[in-house]
Amino acid sequence: MDTPMASNDNTARRSGNASQPGALREAEHDRELHEVSVMVTDVTQPLLSVRRIAARLEEWADDPNWSLPNVAFRIHLGPDFGGISRIYTVRDYHAESGIFTFDVVLHDDPSPMMQWSAALQQGDRFALTGPRPHVGIPEPQDEKRKIALFLDETAIPALWSMLKSWPHGMAGTGWVVAADPAAFAELPRVPGLTLHRIDPAQPGEPREPLLARARALEDPQGHIVWGAGERSEMRAIRQHFVTTMGMARQDVAIAGYWKRGVSNTRIDARRREDYEKLIAAGGTLADFDDLAVEV
Ligand SMILES: Cc1cc2nc3c(=O)[nH]c(=O)nc-3n(C[C@H](O)[C@H](O)[C@H](O)COP(=O)(O)OP(=O)(O)OC[C@H]3O[C@@H](n4cnc5c(N)ncnc54)[C@H](O)[C@@H]3O)c2cc1C
Repeated sequence: MDTPMASNDNTARRSGNASQPGALREAEHDRELHEVSVMVTDVTQPLLSVRRIAARLEEWADDPNWSLPNVAFRIHLGPDFGGISRIYTVRDYHAESGIFTFDVVLHDDPSPMMQWSAALQQGDRFALTGPRPHVGIPEPQDEKRKIALFLDETAIPALWSMLKSWPHGMAGTGWVVAADPAAFAELPRVPGLTLHRIDPAQPGEPREPLLARARALEDPQGHIVWGAGERSEMRAIRQHFVTTMGMARQDVAIAGYWKRGVSNTRIDARRREDYEKLIAAGGTLADFDDLAVEV
């Protein structure tokens, strides 16, 4: 896989993308990942803010990891885009047909992914690397602890898939930044978990609304935390809970999905530099802290 997406990546079965910008082909990193060809079966825009793509795996469809909650994969955008790639989340997977869907949250920048996905049509084929179970919900040491969720639109597919197999009895509160109310409304509801939509355009909302909610969380020690979204804001949230509040690192699972004003191609290049230094110094993937990479 091009870069470590978190802590479970891993033996290149093939190395077809080894020369791609940012591509990492390191045995530990690529173990259990496949490079898969997929065929697009449907492209729709069910919501103003979302382009939903359905595609059929042409191989490795029997890998049980595809059916897990919050599985990420890396789309290779192909030679027209200089061989770069982008990471997305499996929204749902149908093992019998090998068809999965993923949501591309639309944003204003005429970025590679906006262009690539806009041109995508039924019958097109593309390559991906995956599946990669991504940052999951921390295991609570104490059953009384609640969960606090902090995410933006790009992590709605991840939360959607996790809510479909939500741990029994896990209660808590989630804050979801979603300019599009319909994107928030699609989230399944589970007993005991209250979800709040944050409209980023609402007057008075700060630039980092999730950080504001994190700082205002009462009794943080009584919680486990899961978050995903804009990288700087996610770093600040992790710092708040771990450094300022003294929570145990394993109770705070936070991922940076994108960075304001910076292309993911740049983030991948920086990840790769840091990862290669770590491996050269005798480290392993388990030591890699993606959120700590300075971009
Ligand atoms: C594990 C993981 C799972 C992810 N899952 C999903 C998913 O299921 N759906 C999804 O939509 N995204 C998801 N993302 C985020 C997605 O990979 C990034 O948003 C990616 O940067 C988009 O690529 P791009 O080519 O559009 O923009 P880039 O070329 O990376 O960036 C170009 C410009 O667009 C801006 N930009 C990028 N993304 C956004 C955004 N979301 N909102 C506003 N501005 C943006 C950048 O700041 C930059 O200025 C995931 C990321 C990770 C790491």
